[in-house]
Amino acid sequence: MEKITLDTIVSLCKRRGFVFQSSEIYGGLASAWDYGPLGVELKNNIQRFWWNEMVRSRRNIVGLDAAILMHPRVWEASGHVENFHDPLVDCKQCKSRFRADQIDLTAACPVCGTKDSFTEPRQFNLMFKTHLGPVEDESNIVYLRPETAQGIYVNYKNCVQTSRVKVPFGIAQVGKAFRNEIVTKNFIFRTCEFEQMEMQFFVKPSEDKKWFDYWKETRMEYYKKLGIRPDKLRFHPHGPDELAHYAKEAVDIEYEFPMGWRELEGIHNRTDFDLSRHSEYSGKDLTYLDDQTKERFVPYIIETSAGLTRSVLMVLSDAYEEETLENGETRTVLRFHPLIAPVTVGVFPLVKKDGLSEYAMELEEELREHFSTFYDESGAIGRRYRRQDEIGTPYCITVDYDTKENDTVTLRYRDSMEQVRIHKNEIVDTIKQAIKDYKRVGV
Ligand code: ATP
Repeated sequence: MEKITLDTIVSLCKRRGFVFQSSEIYGGLASAWDYGPLGVELKNNIQRFWWNEMVRSRRNIVGLDAAILMHPRVWEASGHVENFHDPLVDCKQCKSRFRADQIDLTAACPVCGTKDSFTEPRQFNLMFKTHLGPVEDESNIVYLRPETAQGIYVNYKNCVQTSRVKVPFGIAQVGKAFRNEIVTKNFIFRTCEFEQMEMQFFVKPSEDKKWFDYWKETRMEYYKKLGIRPDKLRFHPHGPDELAHYAKEAVDIEYEFPMGWRELEGIHNRTDFDLSRHSEYSGKDLTYLDDQTKERFVPYIIETSAGLTRSVLMVLSDAYEEETLENGETRTVLRFHPLIAPVTVGVFPLVKKDGLSEYAMELEEELREHFSTFYDESGAIGRRYRRQDEIGTPYCITVDYDTKENDTVTLRYRDSMEQVRIHKNEIVDTIKQAIKDYKRVGV
């Protein structure tokens, strides 16, 4: 298959209702995107998959949903007010703006081609500011959170006291974050409003390396479980000059997007930086008492921070395939893992007459209890299969004249296009088993 471009993904997303430009009828808002009927299902399914892996299937990780608005001192303690800057340069000729660390400052402007046209790099704070209450002055500034992590740190004591978790333990959260990003091209890869899936793991300081290595491997395994091609995933360890101000060790998990290798998730050893700073700024004791050893310490934090909206782009890019069939036709297929496909089962009557529609509709209603379903009776059956392939529906059921005689239906598999005849009563178990056994073809 030829290499796919980001434009191919963008156009599929619009055509099939995964992602739309924000405020499109007004000409759109730069770098903001809306998730359509299929996109919101896909995003929710990825979020649920992450939550199951990180929270529901583990005894020592609890969930949290903190508010977006927080006390402004939080962002002083975290270092964001002081450090959360990108160095920027402008092209004096065409006025385009770039991150100074992402372009070659000695080369010509990538937009207009003018040489020696860049301004000196300037600092720019990425946090969105607003005011709480009716008066707009310095005393009531609040920020839209630029990461979900701080909501976890300031609630760490609450979680310890109420849920009886003991070090080592984690707190997980999924939610919106906001950054006034300057370079926001590449569709939903980098946006000003996005969603993160973060888990902060609190450990004994002497065990930081062990847990850092554990989460590094575990998070890579997660992507493979999600059905992502292993050859498109890699680690990018941070060298000393790449480390953030709070980090002792850091590694990114990168994915090969259509525009190249880019960060998907960051895993950081944040040491006791955050809790110590919050303790200092709030005046509250944030130490942890180990009731076995009677040791008191400030836990170290191992962070796993993934983008949810960025994962949507990753999953779409990874799933997209154009396949040439034996008859020469091209089939577009999204090979989503069945657990995250927006629709799990499509149900069709072969034709709209002789009671087949009624039978298929009733069947589709029964299946709703178990799966996300979609009923479709318009157009030739082959076209209906293609439409489902294009949105990644892994299983389709067709009701025909034989169904009326003996209650058997055709089950068609998306990946192999194989069709089997089964009894109506076997549909649920057969599909559940197929989901359990799912393995992506060619991977
Ligand atoms: P970058 O260097 O690309 O700006 P970062 O290293 O600042 O990213 P983190 O602060 O570690 O990113 O954020 C954790 C994760 O949140 C990233 O791996 C990414 O998946 C996601 N993320 C960060 N910024 C954005 C954004 N502007 N739009 C979409 N997702 C983002």
